[in-house]
Order: sequence, then structure tokens, then C-alpha cells
Amino acid sequence: MQAVAPRWQSWNPVTGCTHVSAGCAHCYAERFAERWRGLPGHYYEHGFDLMLRPERLDLPLHWRTPRHVFVTSMGDLFHEEVPDEYVRRVFAVMQQARHHVFHVLTKREGRLLSLSPQLPWPANVHMGVTVESMVTAGRAEVLRAVPATVRHISAEPLLGPLDELDLRAIDWVIAGGESGPTRRPTRPEWLRGLRDNCLAAGVAFTFKGWGGRVQGAQGRLLDGREWHDRPAAAPVDNDGATADSVTVAPQSTLWDVP
Ligand code: SF4
Repeated sequence: MQAVAPRWQSWNPVTGCTHVSAGCAHCYAERFAERWRGLPGHYYEHGFDLMLRPERLDLPLHWRTPRHVFVTSMGDLFHEEVPDEYVRRVFAVMQQARHHVFHVLTKREGRLLSLSPQLPWPANVHMGVTVESMVTAGRAEVLRAVPATVRHISAEPLLGPLDELDLRAIDWVIAGGESGPTRRPTRPEWLRGLRDNCLAAGVAFTFKGWGGRVQGAQGRLLDGREWHDRPAAAPVDNDGATADSVTVAPQSTLWDVP
């Protein structure tokens, strides 16, 4: 009998953030959180201001069935205002919850680099950085130095060519156009160049879609087909849920609290 792929779940022990590079210009999380600023009692009463949510720290330990967990979908765990000790606590929970696969994504490679030696890197923690154009290619350099079992690059929104991006020691690239009302168009030649770079380097390539009102609204075909490559299975203790069973989270799940 074929195993059922685990569901996706967001987990936000931190919410809120500030812009750090061009990819942040139309941040979906900010757009969502700011809708509720000033509404008394609402979870996002303080909009996108950075807030620690320690009451949510141990949630994954209570989820009994294996899940793919998108960590801090409403912010950036490596934001400079998140204390070192708090980041360590988040990693300690991930280390303990071995039955889930955690996907951490940051645009703050400097903080990642400095904290990385203090963090445990169990096989169920997959680490990624956003590289939206060659301007931020240095993030991939930092990621290579992180001892995660699976290293991935998010090229969403793709804002420039990445044909020359060095993909050594990178396992997976997930690309996509921008979504939202003020989206910037992604050029087909940028996507083709990145895909061909991945194929040449033996790196798994996933294309989430051209963007649109929501991701995928303008289709997911690139040169007549969908691209759902995934990295080779990573050994994690989660009853058969491995990187092989990853499907890319639909955007509608990303701002779901927890
Ligand atoms: S780093 Fe991520 S969460 Fe923070 S502002 Fe930029 S896009 Fe938004």
C-alpha cells in the first residue's frame, strides 16, 4: 500500500519581520498581517511588528502524525531581533520532533552563518535561503557552509537571471513568479536559464508557477510541462515521510496560524 504524503503545516514561533532585499518588496506575510493592525484582540493586532510567540514553541510536539512544517511562514526566524537563545529553543523543538520534516527559510544569511555552529542539525531540518537574483547570490555561499542534510534555494519571486548561480552542494531549487496585486513579472528566459543550470548541476528543480493573483493562477507550465523534481530522500525518522514525498506548500497554507 502506498504511504499517504504528510500534510503541510505552518508553524510560527515568531511572527513579523522587516524588509531586507528586493524580494521583500511585496511580502505576502506583511500584506496579510497588516490588514489586521489595530484590531483589538486580533492575533495580528500589531500587524507585522516582530513578536516572539513562545506559547507556540512546543506545538509540533503535540502533532502526532508526521507533517512537513514550514517554519516561520509569517516572518524570518533569523531576524536580528530574535534572540540567539530563542532560535536555539526553536531548533531544540525540531530536534525533538523527529517525526516531522521542518523547512526553514531565511533571507538573513549573515545571522544564519554566525548562529549555525550553535545549532543542532538533525536530518529532519532542511535549510533554505532565498536567492531572487544574482544580487543575493552570496546567500547560497553561506548555505553551503551550513551542515543541513537538505539545502534548498527559494527563487521566488525570481527577479533576474540565475544561470550563473553556483549550485554546488545545493540539493533543491524551488522557483516561481511573484504573486499579489503589484507583482513584478518573471521572464521565461530567467526560468529556463535557472532550470538548465539545475539540470546541468544535477540539482532538483521545482517550478511553482508564474505567479498571478495567487501563486499558480497564471499556470505552472514551463516549456509545456510541470516541474516537480525533488531531492533524493533524506533519512528522517518519520514513518516513511521523506523529502521524496514533499509537495510544495500551496500559498494558502502559509499564513495559517499556528
Ligand atoms: S524576509 Fe521574508 S518575511 Fe521578512 S519581509 Fe522579507 S519576504 Fe517578508
